[in-house]
Amino acid sequence: MKKYILILAAVLILSSFAPRSENNNNVPSPSPSTGQAPAWLQVPPTPAPSPTSAPTPTPGAPASAAPDGSAPAPTQSADPNQSSAPVTASPVPSPTIQPGYVKAGTPEAETVKVPILLYHHIADEFDLTNAISIISPRDFNLHMTAIKTQYKPISLREYVEFVNCKDGSKTLPTNPIIVTFDDGYLSNYEVAYPILKKLEIPATIFIVTDTVGEIGGKGKVNYSHFTWEQAKEMQDSGLIDIESHTNDHIKLGETDIDTVNYELRKSKYLIEKKLGKTCDMIAYPYGSYTDEAIQASKKAGYNVQCLVGDDATNIDYEVNIPRDGVMNLTRITVSGTMGNVNVIELVRKAIANKNIDY
Ligand SMILES: [Zn+2]
Repeated sequence: MKKYILILAAVLILSSFAPRSENNNNVPSPSPSTGQAPAWLQVPPTPAPSPTSAPTPTPGAPASAAPDGSAPAPTQSADPNQSSAPVTASPVPSPTIQPGYVKAGTPEAETVKVPILLYHHIADEFDLTNAISIISPRDFNLHMTAIKTQYKPISLREYVEFVNCKDGSKTLPTNPIIVTFDDGYLSNYEVAYPILKKLEIPATIFIVTDTVGEIGGKGKVNYSHFTWEQAKEMQDSGLIDIESHTNDHIKLGETDIDTVNYELRKSKYLIEKKLGKTCDMIAYPYGSYTDEAIQASKKAGYNVQCLVGDDATNIDYEVNIPRDGVMNLTRITVSGTMGNVNVIELVRKAIANKNIDY
């Protein structure tokens, strides 16, 4: 019996050294002000994997941590189907030259063949015996649709900037085509302009400044010409560029130098004043010019000259190449008797006619 009493006493003594339970009053209670357990009670955050730890490999994920122990930087998954993986945006240099374009100043750019079409009046009814410079709205629409399909229409201004580009920043399509008009007929505004807008084809219109707004048959002109307001509307669209076809549509190659100077300067002045733009392109009426007229044009501030104009009879049309510059641009006059197929054939012939072996 004594033995049992000793054992019981020993148990009681030892139990007094047992760990205290959580309900012990000596355990600090959570802070009454914050309701949060004291720091020493809070669950420590899960430690970041150490460099020596062996993370469970995940398909498509990096197999190890970064050498500095930080979380591995996300990298593009080798599996293209894993689109959910974070992708690092690395800068990809965009190609300087798109396919089908050449860069200014390169050897291949020097000989790109550039056809420039020349239209005049557009009308349904005209005398076929005198239809050299008139085309029906239907055929004009077909022509524009055809060139839009088979070539890349650019503005004459774009071509000039390409030819004059010294730093290689400009490009030119390898199959360009340029649309121009001479004289400034009202039909250019009423018929051609909507079609050009619809097809997004830029064009240059060389106007005779003295006959702007003239009514056909009542003054100097057979067919009505558009007004300055209509010219401004087209110019401001950004699609149409208005330039000079002299002031009074005279043959500069057959007149005195004072008249040449007047024609060049008056038309430039009026276009700049009425339209608020620089006028620096001239198309010679009837394709008539002399060396003296060309020099006078340069002095007047014309940096672009179209030398072949209205006379479409028996001319072997050619095209332009950048190597030839922009002071002697040749154009393809489109006759009113041509249909859709013919304009493409006309351009092909003009391209074939161009000799670049020099
Ligand atoms: Zn003309």
